[in-house]
Amino acid sequence: MEKKNSDNKNKYREKGEGQKNERKHVLSSDDRNCKSCNIAKKCGGCRYQGMSYEEQLGIKQKEIKKLLSPFGDPEKIIGMYYPYHYRNKVHAVFGRKKNGEIISGIYEANTHRIVPVEECLIEDEKSQEIIRSIRDMLRSFKIKTYDEDTGYGLFRHVLVRRGFKTGEIMVVLVLSSPILPSKNNFVKALLKAHPEISTVILNVNDKKTSMVLGDRNIVLYGKGFIRDELCGLSFRISPDSFYQVNPMQTEKLYNIAMSFAGLDSKNDKNNEKGPVVIDAYCGIGTIGLVASKNAGEVIGVELNKDAIRDAKINARENKRENIRFYQGDAGEFMESMAENGGHADIVFMDPPRAGSDERFLSSLVKLAPETVVYISCNPETQARDLKYLRKNGYEVKNIQPVDMFPWTEHCECIVKLTKKAV
Ligand code: SAH
Repeated sequence: MEKKNSDNKNKYREKGEGQKNERKHVLSSDDRNCKSCNIAKKCGGCRYQGMSYEEQLGIKQKEIKKLLSPFGDPEKIIGMYYPYHYRNKVHAVFGRKKNGEIISGIYEANTHRIVPVEECLIEDEKSQEIIRSIRDMLRSFKIKTYDEDTGYGLFRHVLVRRGFKTGEIMVVLVLSSPILPSKNNFVKALLKAHPEISTVILNVNDKKTSMVLGDRNIVLYGKGFIRDELCGLSFRISPDSFYQVNPMQTEKLYNIAMSFAGLDSKNDKNNEKGPVVIDAYCGIGTIGLVASKNAGEVIGVELNKDAIRDAKINARENKRENIRFYQGDAGEFMESMAENGGHADIVFMDPPRAGSDERFLSSLVKLAPETVVYISCNPETQARDLKYLRKNGYEVKNIQPVDMFPWTEHCECIVKLTKKAV
């Protein structure tokens, strides 16, 4: 195993790192043992409620060790200094109790029953406040909530996304129809209660579906998107595009990914122009854009059309001229690149929970980049894919878990692989 930056160790003991809402206060043991959440069981989101944060990190470390130690020794997990209210994206489903009272909350795990939520320990507090205000406004505006069984009613969900660095806030009202009665007064009242809101969007979802957002967005106020900043770059976020939910940890994650790739500073030793980098499963282009500062050329590939549109705008607005984005399946893209004799020095891959597929992995092996940095939110599928890569000419150099989702059982992990010498 390569020796790694020792300053990555014990980060969760450090004070907030400049992000506005990483609180600068000292945690008491009470904080770490978490004020209990009385709906944790029904919600099912925070499986580690009732445990201290240290215990949670210990469990995640063990899990990563169990799955990834066949490939090398994982480093100590990087936790959060203040592991609360880290989610920058808050969703609430709206409905009614039998007595007619309007409620907002989450679906009870594996059901379509709504559990009312007043407060959540991991979601952004301001976003929760806005959702409570909207719930009160539905009463005064006499707007009916949507009934999943009958398909009657209007108001389905609210999604609030917040740029923690910029303070910009997006409110998405998900309705079963494009017509919101007294629309202008409703938006006016919402902005009066929360002048900090940057944009309000009406999303139309008229299908019987468990998906929150429908296809159509109508901007009611502002620009229809927000911006946030990561690693010194500015990113545009649309209602439906993927953006990491824990921006404090995301910066740490990306910094490690850059150092694994040797892109944390300019290094022109081997290649005058700088390395050719692929950012596979690139979302709105965050990793590729951060990498582009110290790379020769970057190519990003992503399936989601909206995310690619945002990625292209992000490149333009951050004045990065050495990056291109393609919309499509990452495996298909890699295959055609390998078949056409393309070349890459470094590949970042950050697939969804299901992991990558053989089409991608076999083309990656054909393309034969010197370094692969594999970021994953599911160590099980990551272990499966690492096995394939190890069998096909790569060796694991570093394994760094990062806790992006405190109080839940999920864990992110970055692995550096290099091509074995033949
Ligand atoms: N790297 C980004 C996004 C990672 S999430 C970031 O750090 O923000 C995984 C991304 O993979 C999502 O944006 C999803 O839309 C995309 N995706 C899922 N399946 C894909 C496929 N087959 N090909 C390309 N992208 C895919």
